Amino acid sequence: MRALAAELGAATRMSDRTVQRRMNDALTLSEKFPATFDAWEDGRISSGHVQTIVDHGLPITDPDARALFEAEALMRAEETTPGRLGASLARLAESLQPRTLTERHQEARASRGACVRDIGDGMAEFSTVQPAVLAHAMHDRITQQAKALKDADPADARTLDQIRADLIADMLLTTSPDAQTGQGMSDGFGGLGSIRGIVNVTVPALALAGVTEEPAELVGRCPIDPDTARRLAGHATGWDRVLADPITGCVLAVDRYTPSADMKRFLQARDQHCRFPGCRQPARRCDRDHTLDFALGGATDVCNLACLCRRHHTLKGETAWTVRQLGGGVLEWTSPGGHVYIDTPPPAIHFTPNADPPPF
Ligand SMILES: [Zn+2]
Repeated sequence: MRALAAELGAATRMSDRTVQRRMNDALTLSEKFPATFDAWEDGRISSGHVQTIVDHGLPITDPDARALFEAEALMRAEETTPGRLGASLARLAESLQPRTLTERHQEARASRGACVRDIGDGMAEFSTVQPAVLAHAMHDRITQQAKALKDADPADARTLDQIRADLIADMLLTTSPDAQTGQGMSDGFGGLGSIRGIVNVTVPALALAGVTEEPAELVGRCPIDPDTARRLAGHATGWDRVLADPITGCVLAVDRYTPSADMKRFLQARDQHCRFPGCRQPARRCDRDHTLDFALGGATDVCNLACLCRRHHTLKGETAWTVRQLGGGVLEWTSPGGHVYIDTPPPAIHFTPNADPPPF
C-alpha cells in the first residue's frame, strides 16, 4: 500500500501520507461499513454523514453490533443533518459498547489536562480537556456572563466570543483556587459572580437508583457516566419525571404541577433543540412558538407549540417559510420554493443488553 500511495501521490502532486490516509479510510469504509458506502454511492447521504457514521461506529469492535448500529444510523442519516446525526449516534453507539461508560470514563478522566499552542501573529491557543459535564458548564457560564455584560453596556463593541475570551483570562489570572475544592474563592465580578453554568442531564430511573449502569445523557450532546449523573442528581433542586415510549423513545408525558411550567418542561424534553430542520440550538435558549399563531386562534397546547431559536422563529414569522404540526411533535416545514421537510423530535431509542434468560 505504501508503494501504491507513493505512486498515486507522485502522479497527483499530493503527499503520499495523505494518499495513504485516504486509502486507509476507503478500506475502513468498504470493509466495515459497506451499507454506508452503498448509500453514499447512491447519493442518499453526504460525505458529512459518512464521516459521522464512521467516527461513531468505529469504536464498536463486534461486527454484528456494528452492523446493527450501521442499519439504524443509515435510517437516521437519511432524515437529518450530520450535526444532529452525531448527537443521536453517540448515544446509540454507547449502548452497543461491551464495556460500560463508567469503566471507560474512569480511564478517560486520566487524560484531562490543559495546554497552550502558539498560532502566530502574537496569539496562542489555550485549551483544556475536561469531563464533558464540566466543559459544557464552563462554556455555558461564560456565555451567560458575556451576555449579561452585553446587556449592561449596549455600546460594548466586542463580540460575544471576544468577551468570552476576556472573561476566561480575567478569571484564571485573578482568582485563587480554594485548596479544598479546587474552585475559585473570590469572583471579583460583582453580579457576574453569581451566574452559574447550567447543564441539562437526563438519567434513566433505574440507573439513578443504581440498578443498571445505563449511561445518562448531557442533553443533546453526549452520553455521560452514571456516577457523574448520580452526583449531579444529588445536588439538583428539583425533578422532572419524563415518561418515554419504550419503543420509539418519544416523550409521552411529564409530571405536572402548573400548566405553563409543565408545558415548558414537556417541550424542552420533547424538542431538546430548535425544531427547524438541522438546527441544534438548545431548547432552553429557544422561544416557545405557537405553530398556529395565538392571535389566529392557535391553542396554547403542546400539539401547537414548538421550540424555535430566535433566528428560525424570525424566519417563520417574517418570511414565506411555513410550518404545521402533524401530531406527536412532528413538524412539516414548507420552503418558499415549495419543498417539504419533515422534522421529527429527537429519538431516544437505544439498545439495552438483557442479561435475563429467555422465558422459554
Ligand atoms: Zn434554530
